[in-house]
Amino acid sequence: MVYPRMGRVPLPPKGAQHYTTMCQFCNVGCGYDVYVWPAGAEGSPEPGGHGIEYKIVDEAYGRNLVKQPDFTKEHVGLSAEEGEPWISEAMVVKTIRRTWERGRGTGGWREVYVAQIPSPECPINWGNHSVRGGTQAERIWSPWNIAGERRLTKPLVRFGGRLEPVSWEYAIDLVARVVKGVIDKWGIERPGWGKEGHAVFAHRMDHGGGGGGGMIFNTVVGLFFFYGVRTAFARIHNRPFFGPENPAAGDAGPGAMNTSYHDLRLADTIILWGNNPYSTATVMFVKHVLDNLRGATKAEKQRWFNPGEPVIDSRIIIVDPRRTETVEAAEAAAGKDRVLHLQVKPGTDIVLANAIARVIYERYGDVVEEFVNHYRSAAGWGFNWDEEGFQKYVSEALQVGKKTLDEVLTEAESITGVPRDKIELAAKWIAERKEGGYPKRVWLMYEKGIIWNQNYRSIYSLFDLCMIAGATRGLPGCGCQRQGGHQEGFASPAPPPPPWTDERHHIAYPDKSLYDEYYNTKYPRADFYMPTTDFRLANGEGKVLWVIDMDNYRLAPNSQRLKAVVGDRAWRVTRYVFAEAYANVGGKESEPNYDPNALEPVITTPPSSREYAEKVLQALEETGGLFVIVEDIYPTFMVEDAHVVLPAAFNNGEWPDVRMGVHERRFRIADAWLDPPGEAKPDWWILANVAKRIVELYEEEGRGGDPVAERFRKAFKPIWDAMEANARDPTVEVENEIFKTYIANADEAYSRLGVHWEVQYWTPEFKKLDLNILRKLRTIGTVLPITKLDVKPDGTIEVRGVVNIMEPALNDTYREEVVVVKPDGTIVRRIEVVPSNETVRSYVPGHLKPWPAVWDKYPPYVDELIRKGYKYWVVNGRYNAIWQTGYADPNVVEIMARHPMNIVQVNPEDAAKEGLENGDIVVIYNDYGSTTAMVWVTRVVAPGTIFLIMAHPKAVGANAVTTPSVDPAAQNPDYKLTLANLRKIGRADETIIKKVTFKDIRFAVR
Ligand code: SF4
Repeated sequence: MVYPRMGRVPLPPKGAQHYTTMCQFCNVGCGYDVYVWPAGAEGSPEPGGHGIEYKIVDEAYGRNLVKQPDFTKEHVGLSAEEGEPWISEAMVVKTIRRTWERGRGTGGWREVYVAQIPSPECPINWGNHSVRGGTQAERIWSPWNIAGERRLTKPLVRFGGRLEPVSWEYAIDLVARVVKGVIDKWGIERPGWGKEGHAVFAHRMDHGGGGGGGMIFNTVVGLFFFYGVRTAFARIHNRPFFGPENPAAGDAGPGAMNTSYHDLRLADTIILWGNNPYSTATVMFVKHVLDNLRGATKAEKQRWFNPGEPVIDSRIIIVDPRRTETVEAAEAAAGKDRVLHLQVKPGTDIVLANAIARVIYERYGDVVEEFVNHYRSAAGWGFNWDEEGFQKYVSEALQVGKKTLDEVLTEAESITGVPRDKIELAAKWIAERKEGGYPKRVWLMYEKGIIWNQNYRSIYSLFDLCMIAGATRGLPGCGCQRQGGHQEGFASPAPPPPPWTDERHHIAYPDKSLYDEYYNTKYPRADFYMPTTDFRLANGEGKVLWVIDMDNYRLAPNSQRLKAVVGDRAWRVTRYVFAEAYANVGGKESEPNYDPNALEPVITTPPSSREYAEKVLQALEETGGLFVIVEDIYPTFMVEDAHVVLPAAFNNGEWPDVRMGVHERRFRIADAWLDPPGEAKPDWWILANVAKRIVELYEEEGRGGDPVAERFRKAFKPIWDAMEANARDPTVEVENEIFKTYIANADEAYSRLGVHWEVQYWTPEFKKLDLNILRKLRTIGTVLPITKLDVKPDGTIEVRGVVNIMEPALNDTYREEVVVVKPDGTIVRRIEVVPSNETVRSYVPGHLKPWPAVWDKYPPYVDELIRKGYKYWVVNGRYNAIWQTGYADPNVVEIMARHPMNIVQVNPEDAAKEGLENGDIVVIYNDYGSTTAMVWVTRVVAPGTIFLIMAHPKAVGANAVTTPSVDPAAQNPDYKLTLANLRKIGRADETIIKKVTFKDIRFAVR
């Protein structure tokens, strides 16, 4: 039953419980206030009549919101920025929760309202939200809504063809026995470690595909797989291996996250490269980018620019093969004369970046020299500007001395499809000095158009461009970083190297031979250091596949191959374990007519978990099969082949986790305010209990001292102790104990375990941090790295963090964000300029290294599709309301009504050639698979290019036609580089055509 819309919004009464969190969806990390109160109670709309109160004095942005909102008056657009949020029905849900009398999860169930409201206090969103974030409450589970119907609530185990509910005890015992058995039988000895479980493959953390992501989540998953199991064969989120997404950013120096919103608001020229932020980082774009373009930040610029430096009308350069909503909205805000859209041909961005850089180098050489001198000047305190690398970049990538500027531009125009006058204009907007001789402040952001397109060289070419454009100077208004897909929050022991080497790393600064080799073999050399699990699963490797919070039947490159191989191998195990039942089903007389294996036998006497596990181990030995475990919050496409399904609690509201918004490394708690449905359990609980059972099994065999048992014991003892303490006293919060042990005090904890570790932007000041302090910092939190944390006896908290991490690296002074929480809860936020020193410089990058990223041809898989004559470049992307796998989208009726099926954008010229019109259904196909979608004829895509949503809740989406191609240095997939053909197969039903629109999106920006 769907809970009917109320037509009105109940307000939290005074005394409603207040929690803070971040949006569960995108990289922006908008802050949200959550209120929980018993159903039946309700606040009144006048100030003081309800439980909403803001206490923020944000001196950095000139905002004073110490107030209680007045809901008696009509709220105008953007009133949330003034602390008067407009609360929609989609922001409130009626559900049930325990009373939490003695701590979280205690007491009886009662009906409650939960309101999840964009936080006006948050310096990221100022109370604004997107269509995704503004409908989060609607996606919170309730006994009366779709989310509640969809959630996984019980452990399930496959008996023959059917997944049947079992107890947690059964599921944990089965999983523990299989994992232990696989380590015992196929484990590989490494000196000092005992057996390592490299036959256990982990696919983990699709932040958007379930409860994944966040430092506490990653810590426990890392402890289990990288320390306990010790497998090198893991896959993270969107990559078929476990490794960084932006290694080139680190090799270049600044790293992928180095700037801030403060800088974005001060920039003279903004460059958005391959990211379409209107759809994929909405509030970042509509709030901060458009504020800058509209001139709303001019006063901030006057304050932070040098005396006498002019404040000009800012400009924006958008590089994208599509004329996206981002281009449309920027033009509406700034006027067409301040927006430059470079409609690059897919895969040729490196050529375009180098051509723009060549124009800058040649025509604005004095500006480049000024920036390079700036970098050189930091040598005094040990910063390393790579002079030799710069000369190589100039000669090999910019081709200075090899080709004239005219030749470079002619070639670039022909390869990229971008007219040379636009390339020259881009260079001018970036590098031409302002009046008075001041260089422009340049801020660049890139994302999947680059990351999923010849990753290493594409990213490096942008950092090279940033270096000569001064975007890496670390001054106010400058920046060069990724946009991110989701928020970040990585903390973990380091993964072990694969069994055949002691090294685990990406290939840095590859020479041309790496690419030549890939063009000949199709397989990346980097797999030697960080195994590519998709290739290896397809080759029959691995015995267990444990998939946590992701759906790779939709998100893996060449996803139909992965589904085919995992499905086939999983069912070999099922048919072996239940061979007797399958043999007896169907009846002999039927065999000539159909395969009785297609029938679902009834397992009248289910095996014990021990018997089941023993059979599985035999099956793995004899069939080449794969034991598949899926752990998630909703049923994924992978569930159809799984042997065990473990229902996870969501780390967005059902257990607390910590993570960062990507654009300024803003670190906060995503608190818990709800109980999980049914028997769902936090991921840490599931892994800690399987670890415990593995240790017990060793002890039962009299092998309690086995190194494998020792590893699990050492890693999980602090968590088991916290769980026991929680059982005695529910106010002991296990997540806080995990945070304190393995995140705040990671240096000590991992030294005890004897492994390398990573906690993003960890500094010694982290040691003073815990979840309760983060709670007091509400949706403001702190930017990382933290330089100082002070908790005073009267309860005052002061925390300081670095605004732009290139600033102390390259300058005598830098900006620190200071957040002070007063004893009455009022938070004051300001930005101070403080002297750089040795300590802060130890937290920030120490080098800038230009490197010649050169492009000469497409990767082999892509080249093959071109040679075979596939006609259309397939641009693959997220699409605003349809987020990631669409895992939470079916919970919102309006989203599914607006996007009832997968869509493909086709240019009118191509539509005419193919005989297509709006609403037709086509199959999109190539050598790697096929998918269907409804045609949307639009000039958003150029002729010869189509756009497919990355995944739709009901369909695989674009990855049905992506190839296995990965970057040979960085191994990130070339999701954005594939080609396909179209064939009309029919027409959508009128009931669908009537309820959707095929109009292009247009904006009127006020
Ligand atoms: S912009 Fe991103 S973080 Fe902000 S509300 Fe929308 S989806 Fe959430």
